[in-house]
Amino acid sequence: MLVSHFPHPEVYADIDYLSTPEFDVEISVLRLDSFHTELSGNKYFKLKQNIQSAINQGIDHLVSFGGAFSNHIHALALAGRHYGLRTTAIIRGEASVPLNPTLLDASNAGMELVFVSREEYRSRDNPEYLSAIQRKYGPCLLIPEGGSNLPGMLGCSEIVQHIHHHIGTDYDYLCLACGTGATMAGLLAAIPEGKHVIGIPVLKGAELFESQLHTLLQQLEVDESQAWHIEADYHCGGYARVTPALVRFVESFESRHAIKLDHIYTGKCFMGLFDLLEKQKLPSGSRIVLIHTGGLQGERGMRSRLEKLSASMKGVHEFGAGLIYE
Ligand SMILES: *Cc1c(COP(=O)(O)O)cnc(C)c1O
Repeated sequence: MLVSHFPHPEVYADIDYLSTPEFDVEISVLRLDSFHTELSGNKYFKLKQNIQSAINQGIDHLVSFGGAFSNHIHALALAGRHYGLRTTAIIRGEASVPLNPTLLDASNAGMELVFVSREEYRSRDNPEYLSAIQRKYGPCLLIPEGGSNLPGMLGCSEIVQHIHHHIGTDYDYLCLACGTGATMAGLLAAIPEGKHVIGIPVLKGAELFESQLHTLLQQLEVDESQAWHIEADYHCGGYARVTPALVRFVESFESRHAIKLDHIYTGKCFMGLFDLLEKQKLPSGSRIVLIHTGGLQGERGMRSRLEKLSASMKGVHEFGAGLIYE
């Protein structure tokens, strides 16, 4: 059954003021991690207009792609259940038995899981492969990995309304974790003139990231005019890699503030911003909105690795630069 009214629910994410007396700036955190019991994170925003367009076309089946701990797949499964749409996920790699917590949630939400080899998964953007999938499933909306298409970016533009709802335009900087940059591009399409976005990539390869971001901004027809920059030193060795410094930062942040972080995205972003503040890279008096993009469900895939790392860190006080634990 298709839900007739969309979007629902009309709720706004909270903004929490962060007490940081050690810095002479104001930091607020936009809590996309916890604005609704089922729908959360930037991945919900990336899905929103995709779902809207499916509903407008009378399509009730969404098909997408992701890894075994994907925040996107998790969000798609929960949003599908919420809006009464059928969902299918094409998952990279072998099926694990039992299902990991991400895929178990997805399956419990009614999502159909199809496991494909890494080799087949590499075709996920290939037009011929996509038409074969379309033929196999019949009328369905194919959403790319991560939800990073044009409707995905436009949905992310709506994040700005959540900020303005609480604090109007009383801010100077937005700061967020970046993977593809689609969320950042969506924000840049919606912020008023004079605001600045700091993107913190969680993958290695700043140049590739910047060129992808330019392409996304062109698709959105955004006039860039100095409204953004990236800080590329906080990826901790690459996607889903962690360093002792990151683990310590997340532990100490969580013990001081009632906000949980994940180690793949938000931990790196918050660590990066705090490091910039320590190095006085932002003007004093700056008003910063840190965007908590969610991702906490994916922590369940990191737990055992983190426990091992924590155990190996006990009693050790100094680590050489560049130590990477996987
Ligand atoms: C996917 C994700 C991001 C990155 O979003 P992009 O639009 O790909 O840059 C950031 N934070 C979290 C928690 C995510 O799941």
